Amino acid sequence: MNPPQSSTNKHFIGLDIGGTKILGVLVEAGSESGPLTFSELATATRPSVKGNQGVLDSALTVVSTLLDQADLPVNRIGGIGIGIPGAVNASTGVVYNAVNLGLEQLELRRELEDRLGVPVAVNNDVKIAAIGAAHDLGLDGSVVYLNIGTGMAACLVEDGEIFAGTTGVAGEIGHLPVDPDGVPCGCGQVGCLETIASGSAITRQWPSDATHPSDELLAEHLGGNPEATRIFRSFASGIAQAVRVIVLSYDPEMVILGGGMRKLGQPLSAEITAAFEEWGSASPFIASLNLGARLSILPHESNAGATGAALMAHRITTAHTPCES
Ligand SMILES: [Zn+2]
Repeated sequence: MNPPQSSTNKHFIGLDIGGTKILGVLVEAGSESGPLTFSELATATRPSVKGNQGVLDSALTVVSTLLDQADLPVNRIGGIGIGIPGAVNASTGVVYNAVNLGLEQLELRRELEDRLGVPVAVNNDVKIAAIGAAHDLGLDGSVVYLNIGTGMAACLVEDGEIFAGTTGVAGEIGHLPVDPDGVPCGCGQVGCLETIASGSAITRQWPSDATHPSDELLAEHLGGNPEATRIFRSFASGIAQAVRVIVLSYDPEMVILGGGMRKLGQPLSAEITAAFEEWGSASPFIASLNLGARLSILPHESNAGATGAALMAHRITTAHTPCES
């Protein structure tokens, strides 16, 4: 009943493990000529369970749900890619200090390879989402993904490859201090960008019982509440500053704004654009950077984290040669 085993598996699984949920996709890779395309055969979401065993069990549940949905045995899967918060050693697949998942250290790759018998690749969630976002938007060349979730972090992607730096810290621009009179940051510095422009910055400045305090802040801002407008504009200005730093540092073709806070959508991009225009009116140099034209917001429906993880799985199981097109 099972289809004959092909010499090269074309099916890959990507898992985006977050603090509250695990999103998985099972894809089939398209033809080997031309740009890589994926057809999505199954998707599954499960709540994240904290702790080493919880993370392993919930990841395995998502994998078996995907296989059931696609009616495929595990030996038809070429590889599994995983994006997870925390510090990740991409060569060993060991995850360190994923605080929101209650992990101090987990040999995620080895544990899953032992259980499933399939190659597994693991990397930090923002880095994985960066390659997924560039793929989803069809962008080659140099692209920076700016993730605004609970915190702020960025990742440079060059021709589909992650640039992580010598120790993996490249892109941690949320910890760039910009306000000497600002509030202390969890990193031990004062006035970091992340204390102004992140989900945690909104929660601190706009305490609320709402499920999504940022949505409430947005509604109050649009309704004319001056305090909400002040906080919203400061938040948008922090993102604008991050984009300026990114463009001055890397000069990418595009900066993609992703993470949960991107859902603030058009009102957010309007405030960011207003900040760019204010700086540009005072500085022909800044105006010449065309910051507004270089910023793109990741669409609501994009599952960049899971797509990027599937891309990584595809890479570890195919002889990786850069595209020549
Ligand atoms: Zn900091």
